[in-house]
Amino acid sequence: MITKLSYHITPASRMANVSYAIRDLAVVADQVASQGHKILYLNIGDPGKFDFPTPPHLIDAAERAMRAGFNGYGDSLGERAALDAIRAQAEAAGFQNIQGIMVGFGSGEVIDHCLTALLNPGDNVLTPCPNYPLYGAVLGKLSAEPNPYFLSEENGWQPDVEDIAARINSRTKAILLINPNNPTGAIYSRETLEKVVELARRHNLLILADEIYDKLIIDEDCEHISIATLAPDLPVITFNGLSKAYLVPGWRIGWAVATGPAEALGDYLEAVYKLLRARLSAPHPFMHAIAPALQGPQDHLKVVREKLRRRRDLTVAWAERTPRVSMVAPRGAFYAFPKLDIPEEDMQFVTSLLQEKHVLCVHGAGFGQRQGTQHMRIVFLPQEDVLTEAYDAITEFISHRY
Ligand code: PLP
Repeated sequence: MITKLSYHITPASRMANVSYAIRDLAVVADQVASQGHKILYLNIGDPGKFDFPTPPHLIDAAERAMRAGFNGYGDSLGERAALDAIRAQAEAAGFQNIQGIMVGFGSGEVIDHCLTALLNPGDNVLTPCPNYPLYGAVLGKLSAEPNPYFLSEENGWQPDVEDIAARINSRTKAILLINPNNPTGAIYSRETLEKVVELARRHNLLILADEIYDKLIIDEDCEHISIATLAPDLPVITFNGLSKAYLVPGWRIGWAVATGPAEALGDYLEAVYKLLRARLSAPHPFMHAIAPALQGPQDHLKVVREKLRRRRDLTVAWAERTPRVSMVAPRGAFYAFPKLDIPEEDMQFVTSLLQEKHVLCVHGAGFGQRQGTQHMRIVFLPQEDVLTEAYDAITEFISHRY
């Protein structure tokens, strides 16, 4: 028999700082699905849910590792062959002064440890607005102060460098760039990156560069520049992983490469390593797929980019012909962030769209986008017929609603 308890478990007060707005939408989606409606999911950044199969040689590598007995804990910072492959790739891309490489449960885990080892309560990191929600959740957990800088929609969603400069204060420890960007799909220009490097240099900031989408550049004439290659003399931590370009987000393999002067980074990296040792290791057999991924055939990437280009073009064409929608064309990753000229909050818009047309997109405010502007984020991973059906439904929804 279950008796009624007289006490309840109270979450820590710092959890009040952690919000994840997207969850509320998932609850509505479950309700809509339980009424028997087919939902068109334009909210999931997981290529494995769509027609992007995992390259077979990676599955072979993981299977081989399991059969060879790599099923115990691995090295806390990452397997030797994996670290060597990550280093070789980084050096080939122009990274210098590599001081450390660490592999984790997706880049998300490494990001968490790198922020945890960096920040005291009340410190801040300059984070983009709009932002990928993981960062807000981790910073909230650490009781860090929010310090968002604007990405400029008028300037192709490039970081607003003047805004960044104006927000640096005595508690600012780092600046975060997500390039290519989630949720906007923007790729940052050399000029923007050089200005950020100058600010970091002037104010002694650590640069955090999330480049998990660096291989998903849609336009061939568009160059992706790793900010670490522009700042070999500054401390930079660059995040990457297998989830997106190698189509295995469920394997939870990501990493960070730390570059810059040894004197500047030594104590900090030791602090990150302590956290990595305490959690033992990243998933061991899957670490054995890192070297085969980075050094084996890359043919799938061509196919992925071509599919993304067609789906991006379809998305741009829809935005161009649809009243009340305007959009900076995404150039990388698989996200679009159209602006909505509507007389209501974007949260209300996406909720009603979900309830009435069964299309699931995330509202701009779910990414902390600036108040008074309305946006939605589209994931254009689904096949073209699904995207066409979803875009027709959104157009119809808009034309009836306003
Ligand atoms: N960074 C960005 C910008 C992302 O969009 C994501 C996932 O969507 C991640 C990091 C986390 O990726 P993972 O933990 O799978 O490496």
